[in-house]
Amino acid sequence: MLADATDCDLAVVGAGFTGLWTAYLAKQRRPDADIVVLEARRCAAAASGRNGGFCDASLTHGFANGLARFPGEIDTLERLGLENLDAIESTVREHHIDCGFERTGMIDAATAPWQLDELTELAGAIAGHGYDAQLLDTRAMRDHLVSPTYHGGLWIRSRTAIVNPARLAWGLRRMCLEAGVRMYDGTAVTRLRREAAHMRLETVHGTVTARRVALATNADRSLLPWLRPFILPVYDYVLVTEPLTAAQLASIGWVNRQGVADSGNQFHYYRLTADSRILWGGYDAVYHYGNRVGVALEQRAQTFDKLAGHFFATFPQLAGLRFTHRWGGAIDTCSRFCAFWGTTHRGRVAYALGFTGLGVGASRFAAQVMLDLLEGRRTERTALHMVRTRPLPFPPEPLRYGVVQLTRWSLDRADRREGRRNLWLRTLDLAGLGFDS
Ligand SMILES: Cc1cc2nc3c(=O)[nH]c(=O)nc-3n(C[C@H](O)[C@H](O)[C@H](O)COP(=O)(O)OP(=O)(O)OC[C@H]3O[C@@H](n4cnc5c(N)ncnc54)[C@H](O)[C@@H]3O)c2cc1C
Repeated sequence: MLADATDCDLAVVGAGFTGLWTAYLAKQRRPDADIVVLEARRCAAAASGRNGGFCDASLTHGFANGLARFPGEIDTLERLGLENLDAIESTVREHHIDCGFERTGMIDAATAPWQLDELTELAGAIAGHGYDAQLLDTRAMRDHLVSPTYHGGLWIRSRTAIVNPARLAWGLRRMCLEAGVRMYDGTAVTRLRREAAHMRLETVHGTVTARRVALATNADRSLLPWLRPFILPVYDYVLVTEPLTAAQLASIGWVNRQGVADSGNQFHYYRLTADSRILWGGYDAVYHYGNRVGVALEQRAQTFDKLAGHFFATFPQLAGLRFTHRWGGAIDTCSRFCAFWGTTHRGRVAYALGFTGLGVGASRFAAQVMLDLLEGRRTERTALHMVRTRPLPFPPEPLRYGVVQLTRWSLDRADRREGRRNLWLRTLDLAGLGFDS
C-alpha cells in the first residue's frame, strides 16, 4: 500500500492485464523510466484473475464484429491481433510463466441447426483472411468432443490459446517487479487532477505526482466521470469441476483440448484446465441498476444452478461430477464490443477499456496503444480507425436498465426461436449497437 507522497514518470492505475502490460512494455521502451502501478485491491483480483482463460488473437471481439465495424482495416486488425498473440506466447515462454498456456485453437459448437447455418456463413466470411479453419458436421464434431447437444461446429485452429489467467497475471507482475516497476496493492486512486505540468493522483493514504498516467480500470467506476456512460459492468459467472478421471475424460473424448464456446446469443464457454478439470462459464450476463459493481456481486446462486443444469445437459456422461470452484466478475461491456482509447489533460492521461469479455489477449495491444498515445507517437496502431473512434454511450438510468433488460429478454427469445431476431434486436443491429458479454 502506498502510504506517502511520491513522484514518477508514469503512473498506471489498475493491476489487471491492461495495467501490467502497460507498465512492463513501458519499461521495455524506456528502461530508465520510473513507473508506479496503483491497484485498489490486489493484482488480478478483478476480471484478469477471474476470466475463462481464452486468450484470443481477435482485437475486435471476433472476426464478424471487426468486419462489420472496421471493414476497411479488418486484415490489418487480424494481422496485428495474431502478432499480439504470438508476442504473448513468446513472453510466456521466455519468462517461464507457469500458466498452462496451450495454443489449442477454438471450436464454436452449434447446439441448434440455425447456429450451424451461422457458423457455415462465418466459415465463408473468414475464408481468404488467413484462417486455418474447418467446419465440422455432427459426426466430425464427435472426433473432438462428445455431447448429445451438438449439431456440428467450426474449429479455428491457431488463433486461440487456453491459459490460467491469474497465473499469467502473476507472471506479468513478477516481470514488472524484476524490471524495477514499483507496485502498490490496496491503493485505490480516489482523485485525478492536473497540477501545473504534472498529474496528481490522490490515493487513500498517499499521493503520486506523475508526468503521465495510464488508466486501466476496466469495469470499475472511471476516474474520468464523462467516460462512465460508455461502459456497462456486466457480471459473468464461472464453475469449475473436480478433476476428471481418465474414464470420464474418455467418455467425452476431448483429445485436442480446444477451447469451446456454443453459438447461441447467450452462450457458454468451456475448456480443460492443466489438471483436467472443466471450467464452464457464461450464459447469464447480469447487469445491476446504476452500473453497480462490488465484491458482493461476485457470487450468484441462481446463476450457478442454471450453469450446472446446462453443464449436465451438455455432458450427461459426467452425471455426478462435483463443482469445486465458483465465482463471478464484471465485464466492461461497451456498445461496439471491443476496446476503445483516448487521451485527456493535453495528452498526459490515456485510457483503454471496453474489451467486452475478450480482453485477455487484446489488453496487451491496448497497452501498446496507450503508450503510443502518451508518447504522442503516430504509429500503425494509432492510425487505426478502431483506435481513433469511440463507441456510442449507453443512455442514462432508468432508461439504461430498461434497455438492457429488453435486450436480454429479446436475445433469450431469439435463442428459443431458431435465432430469429425481433424488431428491437434488428433495430440495434441496424444502429450498430448492442449488448453482449
Ligand atoms: C467471468 C469473466 C470471464 C471472462 N472470460 C474471458 C475470456 O475467456 N477471454 C477473454 O479474452 N476475456 C475474458 N474476460 C474479460 C477479461 O478478463 C478482461 O477483458 C480483462 O481481464 C481486462 O483486463 P483489465 O486489466 O483491463 O481489467 P481488470 O482485470 O478488471 O483490472 C482493472 C483493475 O483496476 C483496478 N482499479 C479500478 N479502479 C481503480 C482505482 N480507482 N484505483 C486503483 N485501482 C483501480 C481494479 O481493482 C482492477 O484490479 C472475462 C471476464 C470475466 C469477468
